[in-house]
Amino acid sequence: MFIDGKKYDSSITSCTDQIRVLNPATGELVGTVCLATSEDVGFALDSCHAAFKQWSEKSFLQRSAVLSQISTRLKEKQIQEELAVLLTKEQGKPLKEARREIEGMTEVIDYFVGLASMTHTDFFTSKSNGSYSFTIKKPLGVCVSILPWNMPALVLAWKAVPALLTGNVCFVKPSGICPLTVLELAAIFHEAGLPAGVLNVVTGSGSAIGNQLAQSPYVKKISFTGSSDAGKKLYIAAAQNNKRVTLELGGSDAMIICDDADIQECAKQAVHARFFNCGQTCVSPKRIFVFESVFDDFVKAVLAAVSQLKVGNGLSEDTTTGPLSSFEEQKKMIEYVESVRKENAASVLMGGSVPSNSDPNGSFFEPAVLVQVPMTSRVMTEEVFGPIMVINSVKDMDEALKYSNETHFGLGASVWTNDLRQAKKAIEGFDVGIVWVNQHMKMLPELPFGGVKESGFGRENGYQMLNEYMETKTVVFKF
Ligand code: NAD
Repeated sequence: MFIDGKKYDSSITSCTDQIRVLNPATGELVGTVCLATSEDVGFALDSCHAAFKQWSEKSFLQRSAVLSQISTRLKEKQIQEELAVLLTKEQGKPLKEARREIEGMTEVIDYFVGLASMTHTDFFTSKSNGSYSFTIKKPLGVCVSILPWNMPALVLAWKAVPALLTGNVCFVKPSGICPLTVLELAAIFHEAGLPAGVLNVVTGSGSAIGNQLAQSPYVKKISFTGSSDAGKKLYIAAAQNNKRVTLELGGSDAMIICDDADIQECAKQAVHARFFNCGQTCVSPKRIFVFESVFDDFVKAVLAAVSQLKVGNGLSEDTTTGPLSSFEEQKKMIEYVESVRKENAASVLMGGSVPSNSDPNGSFFEPAVLVQVPMTSRVMTEEVFGPIMVINSVKDMDEALKYSNETHFGLGASVWTNDLRQAKKAIEGFDVGIVWVNQHMKMLPELPFGGVKESGFGRENGYQMLNEYMETKTVVFKF
């Protein structure tokens, strides 16, 4: 835990259980963190609450100066590298991706710092009765950031940076699978000038901490990123106490490849997007629909690109695909491929089992390519959070859009074409929060990010976020 500017390796109140963080590539212990008690959660909330007054009374420019210092620290080569190595060890992703994630954090910070001078209140005059009116923006108070294990550093930035800039204080709950980088980041934030208590990190059981936060009068907003099931439970608990909630949940993104697209380029980009972070990305293209006339060419190009992937320990510079986050996830992926094989063995073109030469202590899995899978299959109806690519052929755009939207999820989707009419039809037809044309997964701090349907609600990033972390008070006066 990191509370009130100090690191705690065990509970503050009593010596209770600890969470062991294991390297998914080797099974080695990377570190242990405390399984917080309810007293620990209470202590962290009190500390946040106590820090709120002073932090919220600083000006936007004073707060943005602190954030700027944090960004500067994170850009130091040695700090960046130490964080990336730690992230790879506890999460498994290749070093190149871990470095990129830390870099991505600084881009988010720099973007929001740039917005600090643009914040303002609105002023109105009413001609009807000569009154003057204006709105005052106020920070909310304690804002909670609940993080997943797949991109813990970047998601921390998405949530905490706009919250801090607008004068809120943050209670951060990282995933038990991947808490160490977040704890290290909290320490760096404080060394760079964030006052004690302004950002506290508490490790432990998601449901127990979530329920306590949902009941705390100090907590004004909860921003959750994770699975749909956990998000809904938290939402129900938070609704009892009227908390603001943002849910960034799972996804089962579709990718539509039209017959006029550059097939070699599409295949290259599809393989990158699907197998990035070992397929454990919410906006990864999990279901690919290809026009019949280019289906064979696309599949051939995909198989060639996938055969170039190198599965291994993320610490090796030539690794492209690290392990899955746990043996539980590995088992899930094996079961998915087996279920498709049982339906039709010819659907499994490549991969789908544990690589024969991999370390048995690591949760490795061979990237799999499946084709012509029925829409009722589990790999089509559930969120497959691992390196399995599914490619089906479709007659035309109408059929492609019908299948794309045949899911509970609605996070992102992409269309690949140079035909403006096809692109327009897909942009309008996809029932999702983010549409890409001739790319997939591109995210920028200035672009609102989030989903519809089971993928959640609310957005992150973009200047609009600042309003999400502030209350508006309207004042009307006459004298
Ligand atoms: P998860 O739901 O298991 O856990 C996410 C976080 O929620 C963890 O910190 C966990 O401890 C906590 N948690 C669990 N139950 C809780 C409860 N009842 N109340 C409060 N907190 C609780 O998800 P995960 O396995 O860590 O992450 C993978 C999931 O996250 C995937 O579904 C993925 O698509 C999704 N994800 C979504 C986005 C997005 O922006 N839409 C981004 C990254 C990941």
